[in-house]
Amino acid sequence: MTKIPYKTYLSENELPKAWYNVRADMKEQHAPMLHPGTLQPVSVADLEPVFCTELAKQELDETNRYIEIPEEIRNFYKMYRPSPLVRAYCLEEALGTPAHIYYKFEGNNTSGSHKLNSAIAQAYYAKEQGLKSLTTETGAGQWGTALSMACGYFGLDLRVYMVKVSAQQKPYRKAVMETYGATVIPSPSDTTEAGRKILAEFPDTNGSLGCAISEAVEAAVATDKCRYVLGSVLNQVLLHQSIIGLESKAAMEKLEEYPDVIIGCAGGGSNLGGLIAPFMGDKLTGKANPYFIAVEPASCPSLTRGVYGYDFCDTGKVTPLAKMYTLGSGFMPSSNHAGGLRYHGMSPIVSKLYHDGYLDEARAVEQTKVFEAATQFAKVEGILPAPESAHAIRVAIDEALACKETGEEKTILFGLTGTGYFDMAAYMAFHEGSMADYIPTDAELQKGFAGMPKID
Ligand SMILES: *Cc1c(COP(=O)(O)O)cnc(C)c1O
Repeated sequence: MTKIPYKTYLSENELPKAWYNVRADMKEQHAPMLHPGTLQPVSVADLEPVFCTELAKQELDETNRYIEIPEEIRNFYKMYRPSPLVRAYCLEEALGTPAHIYYKFEGNNTSGSHKLNSAIAQAYYAKEQGLKSLTTETGAGQWGTALSMACGYFGLDLRVYMVKVSAQQKPYRKAVMETYGATVIPSPSDTTEAGRKILAEFPDTNGSLGCAISEAVEAAVATDKCRYVLGSVLNQVLLHQSIIGLESKAAMEKLEEYPDVIIGCAGGGSNLGGLIAPFMGDKLTGKANPYFIAVEPASCPSLTRGVYGYDFCDTGKVTPLAKMYTLGSGFMPSSNHAGGLRYHGMSPIVSKLYHDGYLDEARAVEQTKVFEAATQFAKVEGILPAPESAHAIRVAIDEALACKETGEEKTILFGLTGTGYFDMAAYMAFHEGSMADYIPTDAELQKGFAGMPKID
């Protein structure tokens, strides 16, 4: 048997030509998004004031299995894709496991994460429609950075509402965004009604993703030829991120491998949804039966401890309502070090797949355990992972160690979503031993649930 290479790259002309829309193969669709005013299912026309038209269509598309990737986007993808599928031989050896561990590495671009895959698509459709500017929010900063690169490339103006605590902790992220021409505003700010209202109520707030979303949506609606874009949660984002899974599947086919277990970290669910999409397609159509695990932080446990119901996507309650696993849009997670995993809700597609049992398991992990896995991984595999990605590493290591117990030679695939160079304050806290594991109490979660709209 020929030894499988450490890294497998597809060639440039094997780059997928279409994204895969898993909704076309789902037995049941998730409940429709509802208009926040009328509580009726939203139409493309309802979404158009906020989203680009083409993206609004993608958002509601439940029938087209493949959606062609425009050539301009494919050309941009070629700057950093196809991304490598790596066989983690060094990690396997360090663990002494019979499991085959693979990871798909998405950190190989300046923004340092998978978010660029959707950012460039969203900027492209905005440009095509003749728009002049975009607004967005960013939590940890990865999405804002990715979108800055995309807007810089297509010559669009960009205003980024950055969660205040994150803007303070990560000044270099802000500088990168400004390098690409974006304007960065710490949120809550006094530039919007939503921001002013939150500041009046909680003057010392650190900000939250939900609040920054409210500000960005309001600013987009108030500005001519401007739209709002979001880096996760939405169906369109999962669609764009399907490129991760499509490339992974094609590379594994070349190696004559197929994953038994697929693991992704889950914040809003976009990298997980994109990584598992084509494999989920196999499961939905009875071709294969891989085991899927979503990993979330114990401090923001939307899948493992949230409720499945209609909720707003933002704190200001201006966005459409989505049926999803949620902690309540008013839930303010403690400041943990995986900023990209602090969102109160979860992608409606991922939520539905989990609720119906196709996404097999969700696991919540504590951050010190996550950083133990991150440092172990960095030492043997070389890559310094983002704290978000390290959630998936934690569970991949745990699964591989379980195989060591049972002697099973499982094939494990996980998503390594990004690099952690802007997260060194978190690594420092871990090294100093000052990192705490915060787990919300049931009473704290009840407060978030109590603020949810009452809709069946
Ligand atoms: C944003 C982010 C995540 C989480 O977002 P999802 O939409 O759940 O994928 C995970 N990893 C990295 C590196 C991120 O930047």
